[in-house]
Amino acid sequence: MEVQRRELLGLTSSDLCQLLESLGEKPFHGKQIYYSIYKLRQFQIGEMTELSRALRGKLQQCSRLTLPQPSLSQLSVDGTRKYLFELADGKRIESVFIPEEQRNTLCISTQVGCPMDCKFCLTALIGLARNLTAGEIAGQVLSILKDQQEPLPEIAAKAKRSQNRRGSAKPVNIVLMGMGEPLLNLENVSRALVLMADPGGIGIPPHRITLSTVGLAPKILDLAKAPVVPNLAISLSATTDDVRDQLMPVNRKYPIHDLIQACEQFPLRPRQRLTFEYVLIDSINDLDQDARRLVRLLSRLRAKVNLLPLNPGQGNGMRPSSPERVRRFQEILASKGLAAYIRRPRGADIFAACGQLHHAQQPLQMVH
Ligand code: SF4
Repeated sequence: MEVQRRELLGLTSSDLCQLLESLGEKPFHGKQIYYSIYKLRQFQIGEMTELSRALRGKLQQCSRLTLPQPSLSQLSVDGTRKYLFELADGKRIESVFIPEEQRNTLCISTQVGCPMDCKFCLTALIGLARNLTAGEIAGQVLSILKDQQEPLPEIAAKAKRSQNRRGSAKPVNIVLMGMGEPLLNLENVSRALVLMADPGGIGIPPHRITLSTVGLAPKILDLAKAPVVPNLAISLSATTDDVRDQLMPVNRKYPIHDLIQACEQFPLRPRQRLTFEYVLIDSINDLDQDARRLVRLLSRLRAKVNLLPLNPGQGNGMRPSSPERVRRFQEILASKGLAAYIRRPRGADIFAACGQLHHAQQPLQMVH
């Protein structure tokens, strides 16, 4: 019978120290292993030459280190790269690398599929298979950063052009906006946030990490008590319960009033704002009165709004708002002092834009 080996990816420094102690070893080796994985990016136990040969051998017997490996990736004309990861149990998830002028953004998944059934999202068609572990969530970041260190020529050239004066690479932002509802997997997401934000590890500060939720009101308050509290984005996309009930079934359980109340209690750092994402759908949620209602709904919050025209082919026959309607919607918000940004979709040609991650159950077609 095969012995169950302990997965090291996803363990914190203190977890690893405890594990080493339980193996009859000096606990400080746990810190060395942590440093090797998260700082030196050594993803094979055999590579960890800080450890004695005997200890490496012992660890190989009783543990494993499984970095999610991209089995395929697709490159968009705009430089966005979508990764398909095959996990240890054969399940598949997708993540997206988005190079930008001032930063690189990694959009990562928190579940295999998603049970929330938002009507404008293709991931919803898959349903939920399972939650990702903390190691699988943080592992997407490690794996993409590893891939980008040996960049393809076009990304290397872009990175070189955008290096700052001190010659360091662009900062990395993480958005938990890929497949899944992060707050349904809060325990593992919370552990992954600790791993991602640890300055002694991956080292991405919390203000560069954003968690996006459909608005599970009680869980928003739980997130506020997590050891690492990221920026919060809420996918709102409607200003009345009638419309939101249709677009986002979660609203039947946590209507707009409850959601806004939870947002009011979410602690913000100085100058930090909540982000409200609003997918604009022709004649459904893009009317002038919607814009005015949105201003009223958010009036007591420190908030900004991201306006995202629905991606074509993404929603049960629904159509994206016209560019004129999107601009008019933005103008109404701005005229009332509510900051609103029109987000251009990234990677839409490879189905990597918001709400388009759904191919994970079928093989991707390589375009590069
Ligand atoms: S928008 Fe997010 S929460 Fe809604 S179905 Fe898609 S992945 Fe799930």
